[in-house]
Amino acid sequence: MTDKRQILIAGNWKMHKTQEEARILVREILRGLTYGIKAEVMVAPPYTSLAAVAAELAGSAIRLAAQDAFWKPQGAYTGAISPVMLADAGCHYVIVGHSERRQHFGDTNQDVNRKLLAVLEAGLIPILCIGETIEERQAEKTLHVVAAQLREGLAGLSGEARDRLVIAYEPVWAIGTGLTATPGQAQEVHAFIRSLLREVLGPAAETTRILYGGSVTPDNAATLLSEPDIDGALVGGASLKADSFLKIIAAGG
Ligand code: PEP
Repeated sequence: MTDKRQILIAGNWKMHKTQEEARILVREILRGLTYGIKAEVMVAPPYTSLAAVAAELAGSAIRLAAQDAFWKPQGAYTGAISPVMLADAGCHYVIVGHSERRQHFGDTNQDVNRKLLAVLEAGLIPILCIGETIEERQAEKTLHVVAAQLREGLAGLSGEARDRLVIAYEPVWAIGTGLTATPGQAQEVHAFIRSLLREVLGPAAETTRILYGGSVTPDNAATLLSEPDIDGALVGGASLKADSFLKIIAAGG
């Protein structure tokens, strides 16, 4: 957390919530938001609830996001959704490279890069997720894996796009497991990511937000966010209930 970067608290609802459940949740979040919160807030419902949530969020400061996108603008790609369609649906951010996409849907670093560039092309802001598995951490390959995901994910970036990126460090072993990286473990990787961003982005690295994700809860959010290079949280499970999500937002200042 630093004054140079506004904290971003991002809720990833994954494959949860019907339209009605999504409306109820977002209304509860809106009702519970207190004046004077410093953090920017974002929610990523499943595609089927984007329109319902967009309607609820109209006129509010909460940003809408999608959980993934295909890289083509349109065409014969059954089942896919393009960044152009997501912009039309009212999205501001798009998550790319989430470990669940990499694990269950085979997204490679090259696929993630194509998605990231397409999201930027559509005028939206990508949230690039990177992070190591437990085997990679135990083999002391964390920094190597994260560096490859970051460099390959950001390949071919235009100058203008350098200011329109968010990175999320999400150790795979901490996602949905109740295991959280200690603030020290997370800060070590976040500082490393920022040093790589300096090489890739130049001065924009100082204002690029690096979120932490992996079992963030109301109990651990404030200590994680107090680290100098942790600029927000990507929250899965704890974003599905207004009460816990609101407490994490409050931890952002
Ligand atoms: C996530 O979905 O990106 C995530 C970090 O999930 P959880 O908070 O449930 O670990």
